[in-house]
Amino acid sequence: MDNWLIKQARLSPNSIAVDDGTQKLTFRQLADDAGTLAGQLTAQQVPAHSRVALLANNTLTGYRIAMAVLSSGRTIVWLNKRLTTAELLRQFVDSEASTCLVADDLWRADFPKAFLQFSTLLATTAVAESPQTTFDLAQVASIMYTSGTTGAPKGVLQTFGNHYNSALASALNLGITPRDEWLCAVPIFHISGFSIMMRGLIYGMTVRLTTRFDADEINAILINEPVTTMSVVPYMLKKLLALQEPVSTPYNSRFRTMLLGGGPIDRETLKRCEKHGIDVVQSYGMTETCSQIVALSNADADAKIGSVGQPLFSTQLKLGDNHEILVKTPALTPGYLNRPTALTSKTTVDGWYQTGDVGHLDNDGFLYIDGRIDDMIISGGENIFPDEVEAVYQSCPGIRDIAVVGEANETWGMVPVAFVVPNGTLDTITLKQFGREHLAHYKVPKRFIQIDALPVNAGGKVQRVNLRKLL
Ligand code: ATP
Ligand code: MG
Repeated sequence: MDNWLIKQARLSPNSIAVDDGTQKLTFRQLADDAGTLAGQLTAQQVPAHSRVALLANNTLTGYRIAMAVLSSGRTIVWLNKRLTTAELLRQFVDSEASTCLVADDLWRADFPKAFLQFSTLLATTAVAESPQTTFDLAQVASIMYTSGTTGAPKGVLQTFGNHYNSALASALNLGITPRDEWLCAVPIFHISGFSIMMRGLIYGMTVRLTTRFDADEINAILINEPVTTMSVVPYMLKKLLALQEPVSTPYNSRFRTMLLGGGPIDRETLKRCEKHGIDVVQSYGMTETCSQIVALSNADADAKIGSVGQPLFSTQLKLGDNHEILVKTPALTPGYLNRPTALTSKTTVDGWYQTGDVGHLDNDGFLYIDGRIDDMIISGGENIFPDEVEAVYQSCPGIRDIAVVGEANETWGMVPVAFVVPNGTLDTITLKQFGREHLAHYKVPKRFIQIDALPVNAGGKVQRVNLRKLL
């Protein structure tokens, strides 16, 4: 294929590619800028076709530099700014990147000299170089580490073909119009954010970028600006919803979809969104599948509340042993970095990728996610999913946060126990009573352990694996 950025600069030169609220760049400007930046990268001895690590916020500069790395034929290695320096260096070394480009405000005193600040790159005199004219679909465009919810983060190879197929499948589900504008408040170093950049490029669509998630600020954008779609993870949705209660202010008339993914959501929250006119489309996917591979369509959102929908057009899905979700999709990574056999031998059987997630399908083929296999608790032969128990306890007074894990038990094999961050006074009898009113008896935690805060990974997901170590 032609280089997507150069192609889009020809197809829609004057359309806005990116807007950070203070400055807008057209596709033509973004492509010209990427050309200059590519020459600056070369002047800084960043080898052509090398991997380039990026530590960036959702700023216009971060966006421009990411585009330049990609468009110049180099591979982006996305790093998560919430990691410690030791963790960042591990990923940097693992990825064999030639350098790491760092946003000035993310620079740390203990970074190696080989790392380069954005401002240094931008101040470099560019050398002339010819652009990378094509993108080979089999070529690795980006490397992104998984969230590390279940263990050490794994470097996922994402090809241009993966991104292209992902963007296409999303367009076939949500539709695209020439006026679409996607609000990107999720990090561009996660697949949730980077996939918006890729869609912007492939659709010729405007990406409205925000540096951070400030619910008030986002709410104002949704009300006042012509944004049509926004990607959210559960906690973001809950914060935005809270601002619409008790009295909702309608979002701008073009707003179509709140695309929700990344983790489980309780039905109650979805119903409240419906009541306040927020159209939520639930989706399911992972870093390994370049974002969503299953999503609800707008048309089904009401009837199938709680479901993550049906597999997108190019994705096949079936349930394996233990109801594990198995998928075949052209958006699937060719493998993990430096673990060449891990994906092919352990997680893929006959082309079916074993997601490690468990789900069930209703009679119409709509998927409901139950949780992760590793978190499933088998108690007296019954399966318990922590997500379900935690969702029920969300509405229990006195609880700020809760996470459920399995504990070995002589009689039942395993029993559920809960780690609770209190929001007031808690007593076990009331907590058990609450559980018995809302859950089958065997799902009610046998113990409630108070804790100051739940351990979360850099993406904000609870690491139950670390809680199990505390038992
Ligand atoms: P690691 O693989 O390192 O343990 P991770 O799986 O959390 O980390 P991601 O690729 O960011 O890393 O997250 C994908 C996972 O998030 C999915 O496999 C699934 O467990 C969970 N997930 C995504 N969407 C949903 C959803 N709609 N409902 C429930 N869980 C979801
Ligand atoms: Mg995973």
